[in-house]
Amino acid sequence: MPDTVLVTGGAGFIGSALVRYLIRETDAQVINLDALTYAGHRSTVATVAADPRYHFVQADVADADAVARVFAAHRPTHVMHLAAESHVDRSIDGPAAFIRTNLVGTYTLLEAARAYWQALPPADQQAFRFLHVSTDEVYGALGETGHFRETTPYQPTSPYSASKAGSDHLVRAWHHTYGLPTVVTNCSNNYGPYQFPEKLIPVVILKALAEAPIPVYGTGENVRDWLFVDDHVRALWTVIRQGRVGETYVIGGQSERRNHEVVRTLCQLLDEQYPRPSGTYADLITFVTDRPGHDWRYAIDPTKIMDELGWQPQATFEEGLRQTVAWYLAHQDWCRHVLADTRGLVRRGTGQDQEISA
Ligand code: NAD
Repeated sequence: MPDTVLVTGGAGFIGSALVRYLIRETDAQVINLDALTYAGHRSTVATVAADPRYHFVQADVADADAVARVFAAHRPTHVMHLAAESHVDRSIDGPAAFIRTNLVGTYTLLEAARAYWQALPPADQQAFRFLHVSTDEVYGALGETGHFRETTPYQPTSPYSASKAGSDHLVRAWHHTYGLPTVVTNCSNNYGPYQFPEKLIPVVILKALAEAPIPVYGTGENVRDWLFVDDHVRALWTVIRQGRVGETYVIGGQSERRNHEVVRTLCQLLDEQYPRPSGTYADLITFVTDRPGHDWRYAIDPTKIMDELGWQPQATFEEGLRQTVAWYLAHQDWCRHVLADTRGLVRRGTGQDQEISA
C-alpha cells in the first residue's frame, strides 16, 4: 500500500514545497490540512492540485473535531506537522495567535494522532510516524563562534521561538509518555520560491523592484545560516522515513551570511537579471531601527543528519539565491495577489507599525 501523508500547513512556504515534492517524487497520497491564514494560499500548490493523489482540507489544527475527522477519513501513515504562525515580527505585535496555533494546535494534533495511532493494528502502529517541523530559533542566539547541535540547551528569546520551543517539548513528551513514534527537526532559515513576501529575501526583492528603500535591520551584522527550501524538504522526507524514533535532527545548509551580505548579493543578482535604468539596486539600501531582542547569530552543525541519514544540501547559497530572484521576477503577480488581503509590506514588531513601502 502506498503511504498516506498528512501535511499540516501545506499551503504555506515550506509546506507547499513539501506537498509539491511528495506529488512529484513519491507515489504517496497527500492530504494538505491548512487553515489558509494570511500566510497560506492555494495558489502555492496549484501545479499539483489536479493530481488525484492530492487532497485539500481547510481546517484549523487547533480544532479537535475537524482534526479527528481528517484522521478518520484519510487514515494517514505519516504526519508532517508544519502549520504554524511563523513570523517573529508578528509574534512581537500579537503573541496570542502564536500560542494558539503553535502550542494549542500542536497539542490538539498530538492528541488526535495518539487516539488514532492507539487504535491501529500492531503492524500499522509500528510503521506510523509523526514528524514535528521546528526551528533553530528555539536555541536562542550564538556569539561569533559555535554551532547549534541536537544537544544544545533551549533558550528561546521571542514569542515565536518560545511557542515553537514549547511545541517541541510537547512532541517529545507524547513520545516519552505515550510511546507515539515522533521525530523532531530544527532547521535554520529557509529561502526559495513562494515565501510569503514579508520575510527578508522577498522583501528586499520587492522593495528593489518598486524602487523603494530596501530596509536592513540595525547594522545588518546579524548572521543567519541559509538553506534552500527544496533541500529542507528532502531532509524532512529523509528524516521521517529513516530517522530514529524519539530523536531530534538539526538541519542547516552551512551557509552563514551576515544580513547585509545577503542584501548586497540580492542587489547584484537583480542588477544582472533586471537592471535599473541607471545606478545599482544597492543605492536603495537603508538601515532601519532594529527588531527588539534581535538574535545575533544562528548556525547549525548538521553532522548527525549527514552522517546518520546521508542527507546533503544540493544547492549552494549563490545558486539557490539566483533561482529565487528569477522566480520572484517571474511571479510578481503572485506577490501582489497574496499581499492584497494584508496591509502590504508594513514593518511590524517595533511597537508601532511603520509604512516602509514607497
Ligand atoms: P508559513 O507562515 O509560510 O506557512 C504556515 C502555514 O500554516 C500557512 O499555510 C498557514 O495558513 C498555515 N496555518 C497557520 N495557522 C494554522 C492553523 N491554526 N491551522 C492550520 N493551518 C495553519 O511558514 P513556513 O515558513 O512555511 O514554516 C513552516 C514550518 O517550518 C513552521 O512550523 C516553522 O516554524 C518551521 N520553520 C520555518 C523556517 C523558515 O525559515 N521559514 C525555518 C525552520 C522551521
